[in-house]
Amino acid sequence: MIYAVASGKGGTGKTTTCSSLAAVWDRPVTLVDLDVEEPNLHLFLKPDLSDIEKAYIEVPEADEDKCTSCGLCRDICQFKAITVMAGTLLVFPEMCHGCGGCLAVCPEGALSPGKRELGEICRGTADGHAFVMGRLRVGEAMSPPLMRRIRKEFPELGKGGDILIDAPPGVSCPAIAAVTDADCIVLVTEPTPFGFHDFKLAWEAFKPLNKPMGAVINRADLGDTAVLEFCKANRIPVWAEIPYSREIAEAYSRGEVVSKAIAPLKETFADLRGNMRAAAEKEVANA
Ligand code: SF4
Ligand code: SF4
Repeated sequence: MIYAVASGKGGTGKTTTCSSLAAVWDRPVTLVDLDVEEPNLHLFLKPDLSDIEKAYIEVPEADEDKCTSCGLCRDICQFKAITVMAGTLLVFPEMCHGCGGCLAVCPEGALSPGKRELGEICRGTADGHAFVMGRLRVGEAMSPPLMRRIRKEFPELGKGGDILIDAPPGVSCPAIAAVTDADCIVLVTEPTPFGFHDFKLAWEAFKPLNKPMGAVINRADLGDTAVLEFCKANRIPVWAEIPYSREIAEAYSRGEVVSKAIAPLKETFADLRGNMRAAAEKEVANA
């Protein structure tokens, strides 16, 4: 089974939830940090990274001597990453999405596959579980291609047990890409107007995927009841409520996994694990 921990906005406790779930996961699991722009699951889980691989995207490289300035590559490129101006071929590799269209249409063989570094894929182990993390290169604007590289490994990783994904926050392309493979989505929020606003956006964005979704309310005893009322009205199960406490905040600030550091939270996250598993298994059984 694949489980994704997501949130409508950053700072709600998504990685706290993911790391705490990792600590109570009682089956083999691969922990995957797909928040490639700002991966921080490793700060809590402190994995032993044994393999760091550079990841690349294929971009065109031009041989100007062969180019006849026909413009076919410019016409097919949806991202204005290649053009012809005043008879000169111009390639903008940073804007290229790696679709390969220009290479396919060039009648002169003037384009060949080059590469642009996307970032790194780091692999290792954390607490006896397999650990995989994507880390986008500083200055690289596109995270989905790096995420796709990691997601391609899911069929193989899934043979070793479950997969638990720390997804990027928000509702843009990277967030959607991160939950697409999941059998179950956990939406972490907090009971504040900002938390509620972004929770609703995330729920609306992920709902068309038709996957079981449940809420985790972090700092549950702060703020108001709007999130709870929305969940009730829309039949979104609340799978866990994490209290606000100085003890939790201090453990977090020390980079500790709160389900390990604070005894009662172990049970909270074990219950969350059970709720997620029941929802995912019911979905698969009904498929
Ligand atoms: S590979 Fe695709 S996106 Fe990149 S320049 Fe060629 S057509 Fe454009
Ligand atoms: S399609 Fe090939 S020949 Fe035509 S402009 Fe592009 S690179 Fe040059």
